[in-house]
Amino acid sequence: MTNILISGASIAGTTTAYWLHRHGFTVTVVERAPAIREGGYKIDIRGAALQVIERMGLMDAVRARSTDMRVATHYDAKGRPVATMDAALFGGRMGDDIEIMRGDLNELLYELTRDKVEYVFDDSITGIADDGTVTFERAQPRAFDLVIGADGAHSNVRRLAFGEEERFARHLGHYISICTVPNTLGLDREEAVHAAPGRTANVYSTRQDTGAKALFMWSSPPLAYDHRSVTEQKELLARAMEGTGWEVPGLLESVRDAKDFYFDSVGQIQMDRWSKGRAMLVGDAAYCASPASGQGTSLALVGAYVLAGELATGRGADGYERELRGFVAANQALAEANLKGMVIPSRLALWIQIKMIKLLPHLPGRDRMVERIAGPIHRAANAISLKNYME
Ligand SMILES: Cc1cc2nc3c(=O)[nH]c(=O)nc-3n(C[C@H](O)[C@H](O)[C@H](O)COP(=O)(O)OP(=O)(O)OC[C@H]3O[C@@H](n4cnc5c(N)ncnc54)[C@H](O)[C@@H]3O)c2cc1C
Repeated sequence: MTNILISGASIAGTTTAYWLHRHGFTVTVVERAPAIREGGYKIDIRGAALQVIERMGLMDAVRARSTDMRVATHYDAKGRPVATMDAALFGGRMGDDIEIMRGDLNELLYELTRDKVEYVFDDSITGIADDGTVTFERAQPRAFDLVIGADGAHSNVRRLAFGEEERFARHLGHYISICTVPNTLGLDREEAVHAAPGRTANVYSTRQDTGAKALFMWSSPPLAYDHRSVTEQKELLARAMEGTGWEVPGLLESVRDAKDFYFDSVGQIQMDRWSKGRAMLVGDAAYCASPASGQGTSLALVGAYVLAGELATGRGADGYERELRGFVAANQALAEANLKGMVIPSRLALWIQIKMIKLLPHLPGRDRMVERIAGPIHRAANAISLKNYME
């Protein structure tokens, strides 16, 4: 097997392409968007994923682009600051963990691979035949030994090779929306948060950002809506946030004009097997842990490294499953616990949370509290021992 097609040129796709190329495979990447997708939200790289970045020689470049966030401040409904927290602790980061904009990381990964593998933009796979013939929306059919789906939580390759999304998707009882807004709060490498029962609004501006990002998260059973209608999704968000104080009404006004509006359920992909016939899955396509886990990007980086390595050793799909299952389970398990701290169900629980944040710097057992907040994610992020596949 030498000739491999990857669907999706985001974190999982570009990283898989890099490592497959280093192991001597011939790689083509097909991406539905007309170019590498810029911008997006901020993401964390932790634990074993940092080793992958190091082994790709990208550590200095990634650190140079880190968000450099300073502080997170909680506000009450009237706009009064009620508690502040160190930004790293707020984001559950410890030690060498890095926060970076998703688009910046994607750009670095693309630059590293663009001369080594073939990229085909503005196209999508329409069929994968048993003999390896792959058909596309635009390009002529081509033959590949293997097709790797790195095309995200709503993966096209998964649908074509494994079946409809409903079979694998698990709703975690929440929705998330994020978009760019003007930095009317004058934020400088800081986050501003307002939580009301069952809903949270968060605005942040990073070192690189001239504007700001608004992120909303709220509890909700699964909603029926038109996935292509941004107008309908903006209405659903406005309805979910109705009656929320602080800066939320003004933010919702800005959301109306947002061009990069993102809206999705907070959910996971859970599959018994990540390979079938000539298809394999990596990253969110295979084991989306949800934005609530804070580990989606690290899972994509580690998964891509292991998948390429196991293919190179000849252990293939079985080796990939054996090496990665425990790591995926540990990281997917974070999401539900994290959600409890991100969207708070009652006024009493909110009151307790703010009290705890205020008390944190003064507690004698502060380190124990920090460990309680960031420890579980740190342990999950390190729950794999990476092989050196280049030896
Ligand atoms: C709002 C939000 C906040 C997040 N916060 C964090 C965080 O704090 N920390 C963290 O680690 N992770 C976070 N994540 C998750 C993280 O972004 C993903 O887990 C990670 O990017 C996984 O990458 P991926 O390459 O598997 O999938 P994606 O980044 O979703 O990329 C899929 C790629 O496939 C392409 N594609 C889709 N369909 C097709 C098709 N038919 N043909 C060809 N190409 C296609 C897409 O255009 C895209 O380029 C967050 C996610 C969201 C949505």
